[in-house]
Amino acid sequence: MIIDLRSDTVTKPTKDMLDAMTQAKVGDDVFREDPTVNKLEERVAKMFGKSNALFFPSGTMANQTALKLHTSPGDQVICDKYAHIYNYESGGVSFNSGVSCRLIDGHRGMFEAAQVLEAINPDAYYYSQTSMVEIENTTNKGGGACWDLNEIKKIRAICDENKLGFHLDGARIWNALVAKNETTGQYGEVFDTISVCLSKGLGCPIGSILVGDAEIMKHAIRIRKIFGGNMRQVGYLAAAGLYALDHHIERLAEDHKKTKEIGECLTRLSIIKKVEPIETNIVIFELNTDVDENTFVKKLAEQDIHIISMGSNKLRMVTHLDYTNTMHDKLLSVLQAIII
Ligand SMILES: *Cc1c(COP(=O)(O)O)cnc(C)c1O
Repeated sequence: MIIDLRSDTVTKPTKDMLDAMTQAKVGDDVFREDPTVNKLEERVAKMFGKSNALFFPSGTMANQTALKLHTSPGDQVICDKYAHIYNYESGGVSFNSGVSCRLIDGHRGMFEAAQVLEAINPDAYYYSQTSMVEIENTTNKGGGACWDLNEIKKIRAICDENKLGFHLDGARIWNALVAKNETTGQYGEVFDTISVCLSKGLGCPIGSILVGDAEIMKHAIRIRKIFGGNMRQVGYLAAAGLYALDHHIERLAEDHKKTKEIGECLTRLSIIKKVEPIETNIVIFELNTDVDENTFVKKLAEQDIHIISMGSNKLRMVTHLDYTNTMHDKLLSVLQAIII
C-alpha cells in the first residue's frame, strides 16, 4: 500500500468515473461539436452565474489565458508573493502576456484591500499600468487557507474604482466552498474571471475551466488555440468533470477532517516546530531546526508514505479522494512512532 500525500493531483479515476467517461457522447470540439464538452461548459458557467465557460487541459493554461484577456504587454498584475501564477507557472506571466507582477507581502497567500490600494501604480506614463488583481482560493503555498469573502468584496470595490480586472485562481475553490459553506454564485458575483480545476480535489484525470461573461471571454477561445489548447473528442474528459461535479464535491469534507487529524497528530510530535493552521485539505508543517527534512521525508518513504518539501524546513501533505481510511490509520500510527 503506497500512501501518496504529495498532492491531490495523484488520484486515478474511480470505476464509476471511468464508466461515465467511456459512455460519453463526443464530437470534434474544435468545431464546437462535442456535446459533452458543451454540456460541462454550460453547466459550470451557470453554476457561477456567468454567460461563458471554456474547458482547458490545465489550470495553468486557464490562468494564463485569463492574464492575457485582462492585460496588454507592459502592464502590471497585483498578486500575492505566494501566487501560483508567479511561482509555479514557469514565468508564463512575462512569457505569454509580457506583464510583470506587483507582489503583495500577504499572510498565508492572502492580503487586505488596503494593500491592493497601495500597490496600484499612479497614472503617470513612466509607470507600468496596473490592469488587474489576481487572488487564489484556497491558497496553495499558503497551506489551503480560505479567503474571507468580505475582504474579497472590498477588493472588488477597489477594482471597480480603478478599472482593474479581477481574476480568481480557483484551482481549489471547491475546497473553500465546502469548508466555508459558500456557493459558486457568491464567487461569480465578485470576479470577472474564475479558473477552476477538476483534476485536484475532484479527482478527474485532467481538466480546468475558465468562466466569465461574454465580453471578457470573447477572445478566450482564440488565446487557448494560440497556446495549443484546442482539443478534439475531449468529451471523454468532460464526462469525468460532469461526474465529479455530481459526486466528488461534498466528500471534500472527509479530506478536510483527515488533514485536521493529521495536524493534531503532528502537533504532539517533539520534532515538529509548528503546524500551520489547517482549513482544508493541505497540511504544512515545520520541523525543528536540528531535524533534517530529507531524513524525515526518507523515513516516511521507507514506510511507503510520500510527502514533499516546501523549502525552509517546511513539509506538505495533501489529502484526496484516493487517500483511504486504512491509509489514514497507518499514517497516524507511523507518525506517532517516528524516531529521528
Ligand atoms: C494546481 C494549481 C493550478 C494549475 O495547475 P495545473 O497543474 O496547470 O492544472 C493553478 N493554481 C493553483 C493554486 C494550483 O494549485
